[in-house]
Amino acid sequence: MTDLQALVEEIHHTLKPRTGEGRVADYIPSLARVDQDKFGIAVIDLDGNVFKSGDCDEAFSIQSVSKVFMLTLALGKHGEATWNRVGREPSGSAFNSIVQLEHEGGKPRNPFINAGAIVISDLVLAGHTPREAIGEIVRFVQYLADDPSIAIDPEVAKSEAATGYRNLALANFMKSFGKLQHPVDHVLGVYFHQCALAMSCTQLARAGLFLAANGKNPLTGHTVVSSQRARRINALMLTCGHYDGSGDFAYHVGLPGKSGVGGGIMAVAPGKAAMAVWSPGLNHNGNSLVGSLALEMLAARTGWSVFGA
Ligand code: GLN
Repeated sequence: MTDLQALVEEIHHTLKPRTGEGRVADYIPSLARVDQDKFGIAVIDLDGNVFKSGDCDEAFSIQSVSKVFMLTLALGKHGEATWNRVGREPSGSAFNSIVQLEHEGGKPRNPFINAGAIVISDLVLAGHTPREAIGEIVRFVQYLADDPSIAIDPEVAKSEAATGYRNLALANFMKSFGKLQHPVDHVLGVYFHQCALAMSCTQLARAGLFLAANGKNPLTGHTVVSSQRARRINALMLTCGHYDGSGDFAYHVGLPGKSGVGGGIMAVAPGKAAMAVWSPGLNHNGNSLVGSLALEMLAARTGWSVFGA
């Protein structure tokens, strides 16, 4: 096995000159003003050894990476019944697309596109006020990462709500099909706050570790989910975690992963490690451009691709 610390440093050094490529998300001011030169990598193995480089301990807006934690919570509450509300197929459309909802009776294709994540927020809300659900989400992520300092950035949450016309349209459209049980403003309140979770690469890698270790966090000894559920969440990340770029990510990287428009990607090498990268410049699918390249190099050099070394 390559010396992982040397490898992450080499990847950082090699790709740092390319952080100017791609475009930073600019739909809200707090994302638009992020320094595009930021670039962090963190890898954590099943023994808890951390290998990291660059801006790996600076918190950023995890945005849609939160959809993995939300799916885990929803499955914990509703089990397989979750799949009555949201599908498990790649969408082949942009992350915020509305088109297929009309053809498919208002049922979103998967839990990782916005429409599907909004349904998952509705499921996590069951039996709670929005404030309670948001508190539960923060505590869950703190528990996964074993780090009580993780919090929501209130400014991001506020601007998500102020500019979230597309998400409002998606939620209202699904509500018109009877696909949301709670009031639209409650559901979106939860959704906007989960998007505003602020975490570093190191925290994200730690939070994803249970998915690399058959559902059990090897650092805390907590069984988060069954091994079957961990495997299935990984399958969904592999097929749907990068929106319309999921096939490309599987082709180049070959790891289950989930991206967010803040430029973060969390990925999992089952049985080996969890990792996270952050570089805010996005490719045309809304996935971190340099972050994807970093994971491609990492998977190639470690032989971690789930499709073979
Ligand atoms: N807050 C963003 C949205 O809802 C999250 C999207 C993303 O990270 N791809 O549009």
